[in-house]
Amino acid sequence: MYEDFASDLAVTMWADFDETPARDGSLATITDLSTVVVDGNFPWTIVSVETEDGTVGIGECYPSPGVHEVITDYLQPVLVGENPMDVERLYYLMRESLSGRGSQQGIGTIAISGVEIALWDLTGKLLDQPVYQLLGGKMRESVTVYADCHAGEAMVSSAQEGQEQETYEPTAYAQAARAAVDDGFEIVKFDLDVPSGRSLNRKSRHFDNPEIEHKQRIVEAVTDEIGADAEVAVDLHWNFSPETAERLCRAIEGYGLAWIEDPLPPENADATTDLANRVDVPILTGENRYGRHGFRDLIEGQGVAFLAPDVPKVGGIAETKKIADAAETYYQTLVPHNIGSPVATVATAHVGATVPNFYALEFHGREVEWWEDLLVRDEPLIQEGEIEVPDGPGLGIELDWDAVEEHEKS
Ligand code: MG
Repeated sequence: MYEDFASDLAVTMWADFDETPARDGSLATITDLSTVVVDGNFPWTIVSVETEDGTVGIGECYPSPGVHEVITDYLQPVLVGENPMDVERLYYLMRESLSGRGSQQGIGTIAISGVEIALWDLTGKLLDQPVYQLLGGKMRESVTVYADCHAGEAMVSSAQEGQEQETYEPTAYAQAARAAVDDGFEIVKFDLDVPSGRSLNRKSRHFDNPEIEHKQRIVEAVTDEIGADAEVAVDLHWNFSPETAERLCRAIEGYGLAWIEDPLPPENADATTDLANRVDVPILTGENRYGRHGFRDLIEGQGVAFLAPDVPKVGGIAETKKIADAAETYYQTLVPHNIGSPVATVATAHVGATVPNFYALEFHGREVEWWEDLLVRDEPLIQEGEIEVPDGPGLGIELDWDAVEEHEKS
C-alpha cells in the first residue's frame, strides 16, 4: 500500500517530465540497470546503465548492503524507457520513487548516487563529450590525490583490537608515510583513532592524557619523518567527545597538520563547528552526510574549513558540485571522501576539475595491488599524486571487465 502511494506520488509529480519526447529520434532510451560487486578493500558496487543502442554508462555506489536490491527493484522500473541524458530530472524522479525509503539519506541515496554517476557517463558517451565538459568545463588539467595511509600490514581501526601491537607504534606510521611520499603523494593521511594497547572504555569517547600523548607521538613521528616533503592530515572517525577532541587538537595543533578529520560524531554540526572555532587547526568533515541539504548547516556555520562529500554516497556528481558551489559562497574548500574503485575516483576527479574550491580527493586503495588493473589504460591513472582528468567521452575510462570478473565478490 505504502509503496503504491510513493510510486503514485512520483508519477503524479513528474508526469509532465515523463512525457518529454526523445530529441531528434537519435537518443537511446534506458533498457537495463545492473550491478556487480568487486571485492576490493571495500565491496565496490559497480553500476551499469544500458540503453537500447547498447551504450553502457558505469557508476559506483558507496559500499552498502542492499544497494543491488534498491537499484533493481525500485530504480530500474522508473528509469527503463527514460532518456538517460535528462540526468537532473531523473535524479528527482529516483528520489521521489524512494520517498520515505531513504531518498534523503542512507541506502536509497547511495543507490541513487551510483546510478546518477552512470547517467553522466552515459550522457557523455552519447554526446561524445567528457563529463567535466557537461559540468561547465574544467578549471584544472589534473586533480591532486591524497594518500590514505595505514601502518602495518592492513587497515587499522579501533574496532580491530586484535592487531599486532607494532602496528600502532609511531615508527610504523613514519615508515608508511615515507613510502607514500616516495610514491609521489604530497598529502598523506593517517587514522589517529587507533588503539594504544591500553585498556580503555572507548564508548565514553573520553580519553585520558596518556592516550592523548600516544596520538601526539604518532603525529610527531610522522611529521618529523616527512618534514616539508608533504602535508599530513589525521582522521579521528567520530570517536572523541568535544572535551577530549579539544585536548587532542591542542596537543597536535603545533605540528602544522593540513586538517583533523571527523573529531566528533557526525550528527551535530554545531558541535563540530564550535570545536573548529576553538582550536587552531583546520577541521574537515562531511563523509557521513547526504545531499546539499545535509551540508547546509556545516556551510552556514562557517567553522569547518574542509568539506568531504563522498560522490557515490552523497547524491552523485551534480549533487557534489552543488555542495561545492554552496561551500564556495563561504569560501570553504572541497576535499572529497573516496574509498572506491577507479570508477568512483574518476567520477570525483571530474567534479574536482570543474569547481574552483577543490583541493584534493582521497585515495584509499594503496593496499589493493590490482586497483589500477580494473581499467584498460596504457599508464597508471594516479601518477605522482595526481590524476590527469580523462578527456574521453563520459568518465573517460574503460573498465577491464575480465579484471572485474576476476575480483568479483562471490
Ligand atoms: Mg574519514
